[in-house]
Amino acid sequence: DSVVNRIAAGEVIQRPVSAVKELVENSLDAGSTSVNVAVKDGGLKLIQVSDDGHGIRYEDLPILCERHTTSKLSKYEDLLSIKSMGFRGEALASMTYVGHVMVTTITKGQLHGYRASYRDGVMENEPKACAAVKGTQIMVENLFYNMIARRKTLQNSSDDYTKIVDLLSRFAIHHTNVSFSCRKHGASRSDVHSIATSSRMDSIRTVYGVSVARNLIKIEASDNDSSTSLFAMDGFISNSNYVAKKTTMVLFINDRLVECSALKRAIEIVYAATLPKASKPFIYMSIVLPPEHVDVNVHPTKREVSLLNLEVIIEKIQSVVESKLRDSDE
Ligand code: ADP
Ligand code: MG
Repeated sequence: DSVVNRIAAGEVIQRPVSAVKELVENSLDAGSTSVNVAVKDGGLKLIQVSDDGHGIRYEDLPILCERHTTSKLSKYEDLLSIKSMGFRGEALASMTYVGHVMVTTITKGQLHGYRASYRDGVMENEPKACAAVKGTQIMVENLFYNMIARRKTLQNSSDDYTKIVDLLSRFAIHHTNVSFSCRKHGASRSDVHSIATSSRMDSIRTVYGVSVARNLIKIEASDNDSSTSLFAMDGFISNSNYVAKKTTMVLFINDRLVECSALKRAIEIVYAATLPKASKPFIYMSIVLPPEHVDVNVHPTKREVSLLNLEVIIEKIQSVVESKLRDSDE
C-alpha cells in the first residue's frame, strides 16, 4: 500500500542529508576512490552522487529499489554482524517512495552503461543503454514531492546544505584514501574538496582549515588483553589554543559514521576538568570493536550507537584524553 510505504520511507529518509548519507555509504561500500556530490535547493530539487565504484550489474537493476534488496549479506558472518551495519536494503527503496530516483551505472569490462529510473519501489522502464565511464551515479529529484508538510518545513530551513557539507567533511577526514567533493549544482567551486591518499592531518587541514589542524594532538589506545574490552582507538583532539563555541565530535566506529552522546559528554567533562580555560573541543576518533559489540540503533535514522562495555570504553578514553591534555599543557 503506497501510503503506508510512503510514511515508512519518510521515516527512513527524514531530510535531504539522510539521503546523502545513505548514497555516500553505498558508494563507499562499492569500493569507490572518488565520490562527488552535487545538490540543488538544499537537496529538495536534486541530490546527485557520482562514484567510481564497482557499479551495478544489469540483471540487478530491475529489483534494485525493491525493499530488502541488498548485495551485502552473502556470507554467514555477515548475518552475525548485521546489527553493526544498520538497516539493509531499505535506503534506495525508501528514496523511490518519496522522490524520483534515476540510476546510471557501468560495471567493469562493459562497453556502455545503463540508465534506469524508479518510482514507488518499481523500475519504470527497461534500462536504457547509455555512455558511462566508471561506477554509478544516482540522482534523487524532487524529494518529498508527495509530502507537502515535510517539504514546506524543509523549504523554510535553509540549513540542509550546511548539514550536507558537514556530513561530507566528516566522511572526508575518515576515508583518507577516497577523494570527496560537495558542491551546489552548477557551482564551479566545491565546498568540500578532499584529495585521496593524503594523510589524516592533511585532510583535516584541507577540510576544517589550518586553525583547527594546527591545534590538534594525536591520541591512540588499544587493548587486546581481555576479550571483554577488546578495542582500538585513534584520532586527534584539540589542545588549549583551539577556539570554538560548540563541540565537534567526528566519530567512526568500525568505519561507520555514528554518534555516541555519552562518550561525547564524557570527553567534554575531561576538557572542563583538565583545561578549564579551553573552549569546547574538536574530536576526531576512530574506534574498532568486535562487530557483535556494536549495536546501531534499531531505528534507521538514529545515528546513536549503543556499545557493549560502554563504561569500560569511556573510562579508558577519558584517561587517554586526560593524560594527553596534561602533557600538551606543560
Ligand atoms: P544496502 O546498502 O543496505 O544493501 P541500499 O538500499 O542502500 O541497501 O542499496 C541496495 C543495493 O544497491 C546495495 O546492496 C548495492 O548492491 C546496490 N547499490 C546501491 N548503490 C550502489 C553504488 N553506488 N554502487 C554499487 N552498488 C550500489
Ligand atoms: Mg545502503
